[in-house]
Order: sequence, then structure tokens, then C-alpha cells
Amino acid sequence: MTQPDQLRLLAVHAHPDDESSKGAATMAKYVHEGVDVLVATCTGGERGSVLNPAMDRPEVWERLPQIRSEEMAAAREILGVGQEWLGFVDSGLPEGDPLPPLPEGCFALVPTEEAAAPLVALIRRFRPQVMTTYDERGGYPHPDHIKTHKISVHAFEAAGDPDRYPELGEPWQVSKLYYNMSFTLPRTKAIHEAMLAGGLDSPYAEMLEKWDPAKDISHRVTTRVPCGEYFGIRDRALIAHATQIDPTGRWFSTPMDMQQRVWPTEDFELARSLVDSATPEDDLFAGIRSRADEEVGVR
Ligand SMILES: [Zn+2]
Repeated sequence: MTQPDQLRLLAVHAHPDDESSKGAATMAKYVHEGVDVLVATCTGGERGSVLNPAMDRPEVWERLPQIRSEEMAAAREILGVGQEWLGFVDSGLPEGDPLPPLPEGCFALVPTEEAAAPLVALIRRFRPQVMTTYDERGGYPHPDHIKTHKISVHAFEAAGDPDRYPELGEPWQVSKLYYNMSFTLPRTKAIHEAMLAGGLDSPYAEMLEKWDPAKDISHRVTTRVPCGEYFGIRDRALIAHATQIDPTGRWFSTPMDMQQRVWPTEDFELARSLVDSATPEDDLFAGIRSRADEEVGVR
């Protein structure tokens, strides 16, 4: 795990299932190429709901945390990744006006310095060159997603600093930090238009109507990873989260070949980098891969 010639990718996610909907095909691609890929899951998804009508049964609700853990185990097998829990408790998605306070002890309320500690320890142990997380808005405004962003940036900066968290292992500086940027206005529009052109019902009309172009983030995309051939693995991993995903729902309404034709990439923003790589890029390891290859050559 610690050879200098081994590429390692750490993907930080808020809940079990997020890894399968954000950057999953990219992870599957890198696993296929021999990269060591690890998912860090901040919370157990304890306050999630049952979002698949077929699973909305009392016996499922009774043991939901256990079931979500089993679903995660199935998804990580399908993706071929390692996965570790950071051990925080789901904050839930507060709803109402005014919003109710967050539940005591939840992930979003843990001070960032403390909440980042398990991630710093994991980075120093796993020693990834590349890390992915969410942007400052969390990708969408769930308090756990925003907190995931905060601890990721904090840990990216702290893990390489010998003066910070000295009790948590040898410093390790991650070379690149990316934000997941797959849900952009241009992508949704392109898929919507392809579905209409193909004579299909698009589930995206209402979403597009409400989408404020000023809130689109696509101009921030620096990196498009071609991974269309791994969309099938992504979908299987997502379906493994059976309580969270309705296999007859919107996620799966666009034919696979249409997705692969219209938008065959997953997109990211390079948020921090300590290596030289010209953007736009098509590889999260651009600027690192060659160095690792050189190290192999030297040995
Ligand atoms: Zn989530």
C-alpha cells in the first residue's frame, strides 16, 4: 500500500450511497487501471429515509442503519474499492420554515478541527496522491455534505503539516484535491434534449425550468474523466443501496447508450494542486502519474 509506484485515490463522501452517485464510474475506471481506491464515508446515514417505495416496509425501517451498512458493503464490492467509516452520526436534512435545529451530537455540529481528525489519520495511513470531495455548497445543501467539504479541505491542509495533529501519524501531503462537479446545467440540458429528440419522456423538464443559470457551476469544471464504459458498474453500485434508490426512478430513465453518447465523462474541479498539470485535464492523476512512473523506472 505504501510503495511509491502505487497510485492511490481517496474519495470522501457524506453518506453511504453518495459514493455510488458522485464519481463512481471514475473510481471504477481507476480500480480497473490498478489504482488503489478508498472511500471514506463520514456518517452511517442513520437519519436517511427509505426512498425506494419497494423497500418502505416496517421490517426495513426497524433495522435501517444495519441495512445501510450491508448495502454499502455490497456497493464497495461492485465498485472494487476499499471503504472506511469515519464514525460520525448523520445530521439529517432539516425541513420546515423556520428550519428546526440540528440534532445534538450530529456530524454537522462537531467542530471542524475535531471532525477532521479521523480523516487526517486516514490520509496519513493511506497516503493518497489524489483526494475528491464536494464543493463549498456541498454539491447540494445537506448539512453533512457541507461539513464533508469543510473537513476535507481542513484535512488536505493539515495532514501534510507535522505541527498539526502530531499524534495522528507521519505527515502526508496529498498532491491534488478535486470537487465532484457532475451535476451541471449543461449536462442535464444535453441529456434532456437527447431524450426528447429520441422520442422519450424526459424527467428533467421541471428541474431545468427551476434551475437558475447564475447558480450553475459548470464554468468551474477543469477535469473531465472519460468513464462511459463504467456507467453500468456505477448503476449496479447505486442499485445496491436499495433503500435509497428506486430502480424504476428518474436516475435510470436515460438509456445507457444515450448517456454514453451524450455525456461520457464525470466532471471535477481541481480545487488545490501541488503539481504541474495543465487544465483542462482528463485524468485526476495528471502531473502525478509520470512521477510515479519515473519512480518505478528508477527502482
Ligand atoms: Zn448524502
